[in-house]
Amino acid sequence: MTRKLIVLMCFLLSVAGISQTYKAIDTADYLQRKEFLKNFTTNNENLIKGLRAQYSGRTGSEMSKMYKEFGTEFENQVKNKDFVFKSEFDIVIKSLVERLRKNNPKVSRDLKILIAKDNTPNAYCLADGTFVINMGLYNWMDNEAQLAGVISHELGHKIEEHTLKSVLNIVEQNKIDKSTVQNIKETTDRRSQGRNEKAFDILKNRIYKKSIEKRQLEMQADSLGYVIFKNSDFKKSEFVNGLQKIQTFDTISPRELKIETYKKLFDLPKQAFKEKWMKKEDFSLYNYNFYKEKLNKDSVASHPEMVHRIERLKKVFPELNTSADTEKPSDAYLALKKMARMEILPNYFHSEDYGLGIYVAMQFLQDGEEEKYYKDWLGKCFSKIYEARKNYNLNRYLDRIEPKNQSESYQQFLNFMWNLSLDEIKNISDYYQTNETVAKSK
Ligand SMILES: [Zn+2]
Repeated sequence: MTRKLIVLMCFLLSVAGISQTYKAIDTADYLQRKEFLKNFTTNNENLIKGLRAQYSGRTGSEMSKMYKEFGTEFENQVKNKDFVFKSEFDIVIKSLVERLRKNNPKVSRDLKILIAKDNTPNAYCLADGTFVINMGLYNWMDNEAQLAGVISHELGHKIEEHTLKSVLNIVEQNKIDKSTVQNIKETTDRRSQGRNEKAFDILKNRIYKKSIEKRQLEMQADSLGYVIFKNSDFKKSEFVNGLQKIQTFDTISPRELKIETYKKLFDLPKQAFKEKWMKKEDFSLYNYNFYKEKLNKDSVASHPEMVHRIERLKKVFPELNTSADTEKPSDAYLALKKMARMEILPNYFHSEDYGLGIYVAMQFLQDGEEEKYYKDWLGKCFSKIYEARKNYNLNRYLDRIEPKNQSESYQQFLNFMWNLSLDEIKNISDYYQTNETVAKSK
């Protein structure tokens, strides 16, 4: 009995030990970044040259302008360390791609893969063939097969050259819009009411049309991606399981923060908790339905279509109708899943989402997870919020309250944050920062 207890104690200690020594991923990967940038710039220049040769006149020049702007923007993201190089994350991706390539000769041999410090479960493929995989996918997907499903979908986009087609589409659409607007100007009175409405209709139709086109591209990538996936040795049903998993990211409501959690975290020795911090702003006077009616949101949203995409896949590939349980992940994948979870706060901090960082740290603390680690991040984020509040630019780092777009829990959190005075923020920041200093000197 005692022996068992000792073993358990040792186990608990070692788990605690791991969490205390966890250090956020080092982004001091100067050489790799430099190398990547060099290649990327050359590739993008070649791509632009090719486009200019292929598409003449206005179309060619508009397209090359878009690629140039995109290239500069992407280079800035790389310089800003938005991606991690040579991490454990891309080793797994490379082995998954290898498995996908085995029976799929169309999958190219020299894929470049970047891991983004981004918590949303998403991936995309650039025109030059670079794959960007968000760290959030590791955290959100259950196993490597589901991750391979997402990669297959992106391979589908790449093989069909969807990025190029979308850019071409935008350029063509711009031309059409310009001439239509010109037409309205010529045929209607400047002061007429109808003029604005017509312009608005064009915009509305354009957004709607774009979302239909986008959905079609997504379905194409799904079908082709699934063919690649099923040719390899992954369990077929995981492709749909993965899509369903992504769908739930948008639809499930986030964990709620209890009032007790605020009291527990912010009733400090030098500053007692104040009930007035929880007071909510009254929004009943605003008419939020106005804008919603003006632009039917469902036709613009990016994820409600997931249901249709899954239905469509099941129609084309009947074997997908037999649903199967999610497979167990490998230990290697579990380790990365855990790492991606620990990177959630560093990622928010990196993107300067300090408000969101505090909210999520509070959720982890409410669940009693890695207390020391999340208290440190709470302190770091609060010190940034303090700086911002002092400099009158808190707006940049903390959302405004939007009753129709945010969960009750998040609105309560934002009310709390906006209710705090500068001094009160300072006290919270100091308290949790001190916590960190003490831990460091141990
Ligand atoms: Zn896609």
